[in-house]
Amino acid sequence: MVAAGADIVHFDVMDNHFVPNLTVGPLVCEAIRPLTEAPIDVHLMIEPVDRIVPDFAKAGANIISFHPEASPHIDRTIGLIRDNGCRPGLVFNPATPLSYLDWTLDKIDLVLIMSVNPGFGGQQFIPGALDKLREARKRIDASGRDVWLEVDGGVKVDNIADIAKAGADTLVAGSAIFGSGDYKATIDAMRAELSKI
Ligand code: ZN
Repeated sequence: MVAAGADIVHFDVMDNHFVPNLTVGPLVCEAIRPLTEAPIDVHLMIEPVDRIVPDFAKAGANIISFHPEASPHIDRTIGLIRDNGCRPGLVFNPATPLSYLDWTLDKIDLVLIMSVNPGFGGQQFIPGALDKLREARKRIDASGRDVWLEVDGGVKVDNIADIAKAGADTLVAGSAIFGSGDYKATIDAMRAELSKI
């Protein structure tokens, strides 16, 4: 993926409890780490969160993000991720309010807006995510902090420009790339769309 032009590795961790699917854990992250210089962006869709944070930090994660619904002590989890040498991020499901940012935006480095309900690849982008991105962008700009605004779910060549215009600066694409015959051509086409903005 990085050879095909991606800037970061987005690593989806699902537990068949917080989300209805099961993927990979720290051992696979550890196996990927020596293969790339790119940042590894670990998206935890698991509950509980805290126990596994040090394992992913040791496995080479650069960013660790989690869903606020999955941690009873959000501020503590953010601090735990930071204390383990990683950048903390907060993830917002389609129905999760951005009010979680009221008391966290000064402590996190990533806001991840889900544009599908997490659990499966290949889902359609939920249009309401664009309004949420615009609102998140306003909050981040007002904070004056350097916080990435990432979007995850249903990102494709034909909607990537609208998503970036809504304020996203970090774009996760899974099936749009992996389902295409030519990873590099698809990433090039996405970059070409972004360059038109
Ligand atoms: Zn993800």
